[in-house]
Amino acid sequence: MLDEQDSLMQLENFEEDLKICARCGFCKNVCPTYLYSDGFEAFSPRGRLHFLREYAAGREKMSASWVDRLYRCTSCERCMEVCQTSIPLVPLWEAARARAVREGKGPMPAHVRLRNAVAKTGNPYDEPLEKQRGWMQQEHKPAEHADMLVFGGCTASYRIPAMLRTGVSILQRQGIPYMYLGGKEHCCGSPLLRTGQKDIAAEVIAHNIDLINEAGVKQVVTPCGGCSKTLKHDYLLWAKRMGKPWTVEVLHFSEIYARLIKEGKLVPTKAINKTVTYHDPCHVGRAQGLFEEPRVIMAAIPGLKLVEMPHHGKDSRCCGAGGGVKSNYPELADHIAQDRVQEAADTGADVLATIVRAALWGQ
Ligand code: SF4
Ligand code: SF4
Repeated sequence: MLDEQDSLMQLENFEEDLKICARCGFCKNVCPTYLYSDGFEAFSPRGRLHFLREYAAGREKMSASWVDRLYRCTSCERCMEVCQTSIPLVPLWEAARARAVREGKGPMPAHVRLRNAVAKTGNPYDEPLEKQRGWMQQEHKPAEHADMLVFGGCTASYRIPAMLRTGVSILQRQGIPYMYLGGKEHCCGSPLLRTGQKDIAAEVIAHNIDLINEAGVKQVVTPCGGCSKTLKHDYLLWAKRMGKPWTVEVLHFSEIYARLIKEGKLVPTKAINKTVTYHDPCHVGRAQGLFEEPRVIMAAIPGLKLVEMPHHGKDSRCCGAGGGVKSNYPELADHIAQDRVQEAADTGADVLATIVRAALWGQ
């Protein structure tokens, strides 16, 4: 069992952060969920922060309405990007959700279903582990031992296999040896961590850390933005918390594609004569700083013309799906997504690309 005090991830560890809010409201103006709250301050990052300050001081209770507001956050990190006092707002929201879970007030119903599926099958889609290798094709021949391990992730393994096939085919054709432990991987823990379900997150994280450490690899690569963010950032903290080593370099597949293109080893030849605008996913862009890589890939494709949306790079707007919002508040997620799609349409581009789709060009 985890030691509650031995953690960087408990609400108590944010005591100083709660005090330094300048109440400027910069965060309010960029928050996609506040935009759909009819101007109700309690749905803004500043409002949530005010609640947590009052809660920490014992003047507020974790009421159902406050818990609902805490869960109406996509973890897009736009508030963190503009916060003038550099408060780690998203880790704070996650710690607050974990507290709500501990008090029996969270998570939301859709998140409980996800938890039950992970507890039963190791993945949020409730798919049998035997299906995890189902994306593989004849040309995919993982090595018994290699420095690089491919971590498929649940979405790519069970729902969007092209994400994995593309990346692994490129490794294969580039002669880069890789291991693959399909059939043994569990969910990376991202949807559990984002929704405050740290006990079950700890189980899958411990399983994956042990699995990867036992493989003895130096690098782990994944096609999923959520997995790469979690393995890069969260696993570092959790491994330390659990007293396990975690020294592997974690990469998103786009980092490998961009590197191979820069080295002249990967040269796209098939022209895409289209004007393309690119959506920086929050968990790939702001969370991992991978802004250049997708643009390097697109710049290398003959005929492709990139036109940027007004909000791009660090200032990219959210798609509405993250943080468990899409599963529990689909209407809110749709509103946010429609805004983003409209911004893309207003550029006049033929294609709206994002990192998952960017991975498809190699097929
Ligand atoms: S992470 Fe995004 S949705 Fe959540 S409070 Fe910050 S700006 Fe709003
Ligand atoms: S941007 Fe930062 S300092 Fe300003 S109100 Fe929001 S949380 Fe407080």
